[in-house]
Formats: sequence, C-alpha cells, structure tokens
Amino acid sequence: STVLHAEALAKTYAEGKLRTPVFDGLELSVSAGETVAIVGASGAGKSTLLHLLGGLDTPTAGEVYVAGKKMSALSDAARGKLRNEALGFIYQFHHLLPEFTALENVMLPVLLNGTTVPDATSRAKALLEAVGLGQRLEHKPGELSGGERQRAAVARALVNRPACVLGDEPTGNLDEKTAAHVFELMLDLNRAHKTSLVMVTHDRRLARRLDRVLELHEGKLRELAPEEV
Ligand code: ADP
Ligand code: ADP
Repeated sequence: STVLHAEALAKTYAEGKLRTPVFDGLELSVSAGETVAIVGASGAGKSTLLHLLGGLDTPTAGEVYVAGKKMSALSDAARGKLRNEALGFIYQFHHLLPEFTALENVMLPVLLNGTTVPDATSRAKALLEAVGLGQRLEHKPGELSGGERQRAAVARALVNRPACVLGDEPTGNLDEKTAAHVFELMLDLNRAHKTSLVMVTHDRRLARRLDRVLELHEGKLRELAPEEV
C-alpha cells in the first residue's frame, strides 16, 4: 500500500513581484516500509518538497496524500492530527524542547494523541531504550551530547508508530562517526517497524543504503541507478 503520494505537485514562492518556481508536476509514491533518499544540489528544492509532503507548507498546485488522505481537503486541525499520527519528523537540528527532559520530549507527541500519561510514559521509555538512551531519561537536551540529542529526536519521530518518517539531513549536524551511528539506528528501527522513510541527504554513502535514490534536478525527480549514486 502507498503511505505517501504526491500528484502533479508544484511550488512557486512569490514575494512581491519576485517569483521563484521550484518545481511543477512532481510525482512521488512511497509504499509501506520503503526507504527513499532525495538528493540534489543546494537550492534544488529538496526542503521545499519535504515540507509539502509533511503538510508544513501548501503546494501551488497538485496534491499530497498521506495515508490515503488528501491533505488539502482537511481542516487545519485534522491535518495537524494526521501529521502527528501518520508522520514522524527529524531535522538537522533536533528541535527538542530545552525545558523538558528527554522522556517528556518523547512523550509529548503521544500525549497529543490523547493517550494516557502511563501509556505515553511506557511507550516513550521503550523507544528511548531502543535508541540507547535508557540511562538518559531525565536529562534535558542541554545535558545530552549531539548524537544523544539526535537519537532522542529519532525516538520522538517514531513514538507514535508513524507510517512514514520524513528526515531533512537528519544526521547533517553530526561528525561522521556519530552520523553513521545515528543513521544505522534510525534505519534499523524503521525496518523493524516497517516504517517508510523519505530522507533528504547530501551524503551519497547514506543515500546508497536506502531502497531508492531520487535526484531532484531542475524541477524533476529522477531515480538514480545504483552505479550513479
Ligand atoms: P534545497 O533544500 O534543495 O537546498 P530549497 O527547497 O530550500 O532547496 O529551496 C529551493 C528554492 O526555493 C531556492 O531557490 C530557494 O531560494 C527558494 N526558497 C526556499 N524557501 C523559500 C521561501 N520561503 N521564500 C522564497 N523562496 C524560497
Ligand atoms: P560526547 O562525548 O558525545 O561529545 P559529551 O562529552 O557532551 O558527549 O557528554 C558525555 C556524556 O555526559 C553524555 O552521555 C551526556 O549525557 C552526559 N552529559 C553531558 N553534559 C551533561 C550535563 N550538563 N549534565 C548531565 N549529563 C551530561
């Protein structure tokens, strides 16, 4: 089944008289459990695409379907609910709330679903243990290392068992060794839960590990053959 589908997707940024067409007529389908890398030069529109897929921005034309639901047909509240339940987000910077502990940060998306505190606590704990942060539950982001913060962000992205995780350079802010570790962990967890992954990366070594590599170039998505990656 298809968890994420973009149809005839177009985006043009307009600021006053300045118009920046990024792409027009993009098609993308991601099936359950599939992992997809999006590569391309800086400014090609990778972040724009990810924002549209995640419902963080609205397309100029075309449609995005998340878990079969047409995003543009939903109210803001319903779209927010779908994003929280069906998608997980990991960014280059962790975006953990600084005043909250690792456990509280990971519990938050679960509580937003209306899950009880004991259930949210046990699910958040289990995921933090899975990412190797079982001994860091009460640490605030400022008390964690960079790799630990990204691992907490991975736990937060997965805690609602989303159909798909969207990652924008999720390991881009880490040194090479830590990045490789966090990436492997994310991939293992995604595979274990059959969660799809769409990840923007400039790191071809990471891209190569995913099922498909798509290059965004001059407004078009093209699948790269393994030897091109
Ligand atoms: P990438 O992630 O591949 O580096 P982006 O999606 O960030 O590319 O940007 C694609 C193009 O859209 C660039 O030309 C960028 O300058 C432009 N752009 C991105 N965000 C905005 C915005 N909020 N307003 C105007 N132009 C933007
Ligand atoms: P790294 O070796 O990855 O750079 P750090 O040296 O920043 O990591 O931290 C090492 C360990 O110490 C981490 O596991 C982190 O959780 C813990 N730690 C770092 N800073 C604090 C702090 N202010 N309070 C409590 N624990 C901390």
